[in-house]
Amino acid sequence: MHVLVRGAGVAGLAVAHELSVRGAAVTIADPRSDSSRAASWLAGGMLAPWCERESAEETVLLRGRDAIDRWDMILPGEVHRNGTLVVAPTRDQGELDRFARRTSGHEWLGEEQIAALEPALAGHFRRALFFALEGHVNPRRVLGLLREKLAVRHVAFIEQVVNEADYDDVVDCTGAARIGQTSGLRGVRGEMLYLETTEVVLSRPVRLLHPRFPVYIVPRGDGLFMVGATMIETEHDGPISARSMMELLNAAYAVHPAFADAAVVETGVGIRPAFADNFPRATREHDVVVLNGLYRHGFLLAPAMAQDAADLVFSRIEPGGNSR
Ligand SMILES: Cc1cc2nc3c(=O)[nH]c(=O)nc-3n(C[C@H](O)[C@H](O)[C@H](O)COP(=O)(O)OP(=O)(O)OC[C@H]3O[C@@H](n4cnc5c(N)ncnc54)[C@H](O)[C@@H]3O)c2cc1C
Repeated sequence: MHVLVRGAGVAGLAVAHELSVRGAAVTIADPRSDSSRAASWLAGGMLAPWCERESAEETVLLRGRDAIDRWDMILPGEVHRNGTLVVAPTRDQGELDRFARRTSGHEWLGEEQIAALEPALAGHFRRALFFALEGHVNPRRVLGLLREKLAVRHVAFIEQVVNEADYDDVVDCTGAARIGQTSGLRGVRGEMLYLETTEVVLSRPVRLLHPRFPVYIVPRGDGLFMVGATMIETEHDGPISARSMMELLNAAYAVHPAFADAAVVETGVGIRPAFADNFPRATREHDVVVLNGLYRHGFLLAPAMAQDAADLVFSRIEPGGNSR
């Protein structure tokens, strides 16, 4: 069986991997050869289902809690398994209590424990929540490595499809490009930036709670930090606004004042595809399997959702191996 996967973001690559492991021949089509226009390129890469439960439905936790193990099987050694630290400015301590009430899988840390975990934050916060079971990946590295692994498995990458009828099945993973074609799919704008400084060293993602704007800082190593991300209900993908940039920078400064001297080396805007319940779906639409709506959980949920998409492809095959 030969399956065409449209889109080489995290969803498309995860589906291609799952199909290939199950024995299908796979071709991935994406007009961009390097994933750099995909929302996946801009992601924080946090595998943080317990933290996400603060604003997400239980299903996100249930389907996402083994994401770390799933990524470890796909790309061994690529997951940083050192948890998430959640802090709040002194004036917003109530936010931390509220966050603790709405989530599970955490422990409270005092000043000394915070300093032991993240020496750079010593004396900055009186208390914090620590979600020890969470992890993160570097999305750009993971996208690149997954492409390489798929190529070794003889998955073909093309920029344009000549004739979709040449394939036994098609899986569409085109993310926000499908808005308007799949009913109920909308876009949620996410703005982010990269800071570079040698003055701050962090070992894990740090989330800063704020009544208006929860922000996270993800260390990428070599003095690079991803700071994200806004959540704006629009499909407009123009450059980052001054307001968003100020808010992200203020939050970074609140986590550590040395970020004020960091270099802003990149800004980015991605459109997260989402359904009304903010949970992804794999469905068959007009003879094409569509996996979309990964919202802010593309890395968290892609491995699990790829299985659902592959199930739909294989459920079409009769025991003798013919397509129905
Ligand atoms: C700032 C930001 C931070 C985020 N942080 C996190 C995080 O920490 N953890 C997490 O789990 N998720 C995070 N997300 C969410 C995650 O990035 C998305 O859920 C995920 O990228 C969606 O993946 P996708 O493959 O569906 O879409 P995309 O990554 O957008 O990929 C779609 C691909 O389809 C291609 N394409 C478009 N049209 C066509 C066509 N006609 N034919 C073929 N190919 C086509 C595009 O070129 C693109 O490569 C974040 C998102 C943003 C914007």
